[in-house]
Amino acid sequence: MERVIVSACLLGMRTRYDGDSKPAADLPPKLRDVCVVPVCPEQLGGLPTPRAASYITEGDGADVLSGKSRLKNEEGEDVTGQFLLGAKEVARLAQMWGIKKAYLKSKSPSCGLGVTQGPEGEIPGNGVCAELLRQMGIEVTVVE
Ligand code: SF4
Repeated sequence: MERVIVSACLLGMRTRYDGDSKPAADLPPKLRDVCVVPVCPEQLGGLPTPRAASYITEGDGADVLSGKSRLKNEEGEDVTGQFLLGAKEVARLAQMWGIKKAYLKSKSPSCGLGVTQGPEGEIPGNGVCAELLRQMGIEVTVVE
C-alpha cells in the first residue's frame, strides 16, 4: 500500500505551536486507500507543545537549508537547529519507505508551501520541511 506523509495537525492532532490542531475536513477521503504517516517536523526537531511561534528571519526555507538564513521564535531564541533536525527526520522517514507524496499544512514555517512565515507575518516561499521534501522530488500538496 502506498504511504504518504501528512502534517499531524491536519489529522486533528494537537501539535500546533498554540497546542491546538487544524483538522482538514476534506482530507480523510483522499487518504482512504493509503497508509498515512503523520509527522510534525517541529515536534520531531525537539520543540515543545505549546511553543512560541517561529519565523524565518530572511528569505524562505530554501535559504535556511542552504545556510543563508535562520529561524527565530517570538522570544528571540534561535530555533534553526530544531527546524532542520525535524525536517531531516521527516526526510529520513520518506527515504526509508520510498514515500513520494506529502500533504502539508499551509503557511507554516515548517510545512508551508508557497506561503510561509517571515518576521512581519506571511511571506511567499516554502517552509523548511516542505522545501526539503520538494528538493527530494516528493510531490507536496498544500492543505489549508
Ligand atoms: S504545520 Fe507542521 S510543524 Fe506546524 S503543527 Fe502542523 S505538522 Fe507541526
